[in-house]
Amino acid sequence: MSHYTKSPLMGQMMNQPLLISSIIEHADRYFGDNEIVSRRVEGDLHRTNYRECHARSRQLANALQSLGVKMGDRVATLAWNGYRHLEAYYAVSGSGAVLHTINPRLTPEHIAYIANHAEDQYLLFDLTFLPLVEAFAAHCNTIRGYILMCDPDRMPASSKIPHLMCYETLIAQHQADYCWPLFDENSAATLCYTSGTTGNPKGALYSHRSTVLHSYASAMPDALCVSGRDTVLPVVPMFHVNAWGLPYSVPLTGAKMVFPGPALDGKSLYELFESEQVTFSAGVPTVWLGLLTYVGQNKLTFSSFKRTVIGGSACPPSMMQTLRHQYGIDVVHAWGMTEMSPLGTACTLQSKHGALSEQDQQAILETQGHVIYGVDMKIVDDAGKALPWDGKTYGNLLVKGPWVISSYFKNEGGEVLQDGWFPTGDVATISADGYMRITDRSKDVIKSGGEWIGTIDLENIAMAHPAVLQAACIGIAHPKWDERPLLIVVKKPGMDVSKAELLEFYQGKIAKWWMPDDVVFADALPIGATGKILKNKIREQFKDYTLPSA
Ligand code: AMP
Repeated sequence: MSHYTKSPLMGQMMNQPLLISSIIEHADRYFGDNEIVSRRVEGDLHRTNYRECHARSRQLANALQSLGVKMGDRVATLAWNGYRHLEAYYAVSGSGAVLHTINPRLTPEHIAYIANHAEDQYLLFDLTFLPLVEAFAAHCNTIRGYILMCDPDRMPASSKIPHLMCYETLIAQHQADYCWPLFDENSAATLCYTSGTTGNPKGALYSHRSTVLHSYASAMPDALCVSGRDTVLPVVPMFHVNAWGLPYSVPLTGAKMVFPGPALDGKSLYELFESEQVTFSAGVPTVWLGLLTYVGQNKLTFSSFKRTVIGGSACPPSMMQTLRHQYGIDVVHAWGMTEMSPLGTACTLQSKHGALSEQDQQAILETQGHVIYGVDMKIVDDAGKALPWDGKTYGNLLVKGPWVISSYFKNEGGEVLQDGWFPTGDVATISADGYMRITDRSKDVIKSGGEWIGTIDLENIAMAHPAVLQAACIGIAHPKWDERPLLIVVKKPGMDVSKAELLEFYQGKIAKWWMPDDVVFADALPIGATGKILKNKIREQFKDYTLPSA
């Protein structure tokens, strides 16, 4: 880049590009026998290893080349976490094409929009999604062929999908003699669209360099701490921000990989954790809610599960404590976003914190943590002025780093950076030690009498009540205060709590003026395609709600 000063004396080390193919090559060469276990759509457990994964990725790369896929072309997937999806991760990016992972929980219209926007050339998909693909295929203008990831005997006798091929038949026609090409590490590798809760979804286009750097960084001990001694079960889907980079960081370390496929309910997950002796996992809070409910109802314990990363939404402290104290599972609270590949911060303690009381340590562990080297952050006011790191002042959170987006795919939305920093849309505090705490998404903050009320704190307190399963807090228009908090609560099955009891539970835990003005009990909360509570849907639902105080 032109604004860098060139030194008269350059280093004399190999200038080897950081390419995704090098990860699977490494895993094959040094950890070839290490296992990849997948629960398949068919219901059975499939076993393979990194050697076979590498061979089959090269067969697929050869197959894609024979279909005319060129460097830079987008190849989409619509698939669960499984070995074939992993093969596509390496075959597509490794050959210089761009892997576009599509979230199957989106509507057919939404999927057709992003497939057309991405100009996808081929789509690889799991059997589960046959009806979904049939619903949108006619609306996709650029897809030349559809590859169903199944054995030949599972292919449908007839289908409305044009140019439908069988994955296993296709790769069986090709050898594993493919040689991964060398190219500029800044070339595009994968494409992931943001959830698009407001406006059209926008694409984050990751490069080989950003992905490999993120893989190194995210595996570090104070980040996800992935090692060759782990058995890793990524619950976080490979169709959402590359499963937080685990399809790269796990093979990089040689850890055993366990894919849950479509079975993400508490019972199926628990059985897989136990049968494969999983040590480490990662997922959003709603997934752990399902697992903990199942384990609690059946009075079960975990025999190998020791650590999990929770992120995507704020992890309620009550969930963290249940996992730690009842099941002996350490929680690493992490924060990031699609635009950050996704990892920005992770929460671990430092030696100096050893002298703190358990309560003070817990208070630190409940924050979203410190940045991983590579990422830098700051909080600013609305005028862009940097705010102090005192753990109290909150402001707009901005980040930068080599795996943070610089612009969206096709420059959608125009210039996104502010003086070289990416505005995350989150509101946060940062402590003197550099521990960051998200107080809210800026569009979710409740503005009451000119002051802000952070909804995450209010939700976390409600979730700590023994009868509460889920809670969401939104601002309701108020004639005097502008907005006031309304709490919507889902009770645990068979448990009861009244509005008065819940409000009493808040006493002494928050400033008086933060107290929710009303509580509404609901059967369920709307959950979006990435497992997060959809606040915009709740706001829509309650748009005509009148608070008793209004
Ligand atoms: P996505 O791009 O769909 O992964 O969403 C990213 C957004 O999720 C962030 O900007 C945050 O608002 C939210 N988020 C992610 N991790 C956390 C966390 N640990 N605590 C609170 N919010 C989070």
